[in-house]
Parts: sequence; C-alpha cells; structure tokens
Amino acid sequence: MPHRLARLLEVQSLDMELAALESRREEVPRRRAEVTREITELEAERGEKEQALEHGRLARRGKESDLELQRERLAKYERQLGEVRTNVAYSALLSEIQRAKREIGQLEDEILDLMGEREDQEKRIAELSGMLAEKRSAAAGELEELAEEAREIERAAEAARSKRDQLASEIQPALYRMYDRLRRGRRFPALVPMRGHACGACHSSLPPQVVREIQHEGAFHPCEACGVLVYAAPEVEPASAATPRGTT
Ligand SMILES: [Zn+2]
Repeated sequence: MPHRLARLLEVQSLDMELAALESRREEVPRRRAEVTREITELEAERGEKEQALEHGRLARRGKESDLELQRERLAKYERQLGEVRTNVAYSALLSEIQRAKREIGQLEDEILDLMGEREDQEKRIAELSGMLAEKRSAAAGELEELAEEAREIERAAEAARSKRDQLASEIQPALYRMYDRLRRGRRFPALVPMRGHACGACHSSLPPQVVREIQHEGAFHPCEACGVLVYAAPEVEPASAATPRGTT
C-alpha cells in the first residue's frame, strides 16, 4: 500500500482495538461482582443470623441464672413460712413468695421465647448454608469463564500492543508525534477520513483548497474546527460527496 498514512492507520486501528480490550477488561470485575452478588448477600444474612444466635445464647444464659436465683429465693421464703411468729411477717413473706413466683413465670416465658427464636435462627442458618453451597457451585463455572476471559483479553492486548509498537517505530517521527498528541488529548480517532468535502469527525466543511490538498495521495490536513487529521480514504464512495452528511 503506497499510502503514506497506511501504517499510521494501522496503528490507529490497533489503538482502537486496545481501547476496546481495555474497556472489556474493566468490565470483568463488575461482572464478577454480579455473579457473586447473591452469594455475598446470602453470606451477609448468614453472618447476621449467626450473630443473633450468639446474642440469644448469651441472653438465655443470663435469664437462666436469674431464674436459678429466683428459685432459691422462693425455696428460702417457703422454708421461712413455717418459722414466722407474727401475721405481719407472715403476709410480708407471702407477698415475697408471690413476687418470686411471678418473676419465675416471666423468666420461664422469656427463656421459652428465646428457645423458639433459636430454633428459627438455626433453621434459617441451615437453609442459607444449603443455598450458599448451591450458588457457589453454580457460580464456579461462570467465575472460571470470567477468569479465562480476563486471561484471553490480556493475551490479545499484549499481542496488539507489541504489534502496535513495532508499527509505530516505522512511522515518520513527526507524523507519529502529531498523531500521538491528538490521541493523548482525547481527539480519538485522530485520523479521520474526509466525508464529501467535510471533516469526517465534526462534519464542518473544508475549504476547497484544503480538499484538493487532502485528495493528494497520502496527504492530510488538520480540521480547523475540531483538530483531527483529515485524510482522503482510499475507498471514497463517489456518492458520499453529494449527500449532505454534515446534517447528521
Ligand atoms: Zn473536524
């Protein structure tokens, strides 16, 4: 290809390929998070349930020791009942006995509630563990595919990069620098074919003299409106000159 820009166009198309590979590479962690999202959520719920289970266990232990104390008090009062001498002392003791019985009843209810909660929590934890095992094995294949895809992207990028660097070294340095400056300045693609008599990037029309200049093989001209390098594509469609592309 005698076109003076041919090599640079190849570099540009490799740069585009590299940019596409880069955005695919950036997608991988997001897709991985999507695959593992449910697993992460289930793990979080199981963690919460396990914590609640532990809190319940400690609360129950506290209530059981309170219950033990109340039972001892009750037994002591009941023993004292036979030893009191006055009616006042007797009725005071009876009301203490009533109070201890009430507290015992209440503690027993609370302990039963805690046992019920524990049963529910243990059931849910077992359920979550089963779901986690299932989801983990279902995700394993997908995660392996993603890892393989990431490796494949890496290989393709490496190949494209070394080919690109080789080609870039064969380009006239001044031309390459011009391209590279545009590329780094986010004017990309930096080399854009002329469309009709207009810039292929921003569609502003080019002065006739510039058009004539561009139509020389291998020539290019910076677009005054947007700065890209406009060149004449080797495969210019004659019809495109007549269609008002500038309006699209
Ligand atoms: Zn332009």
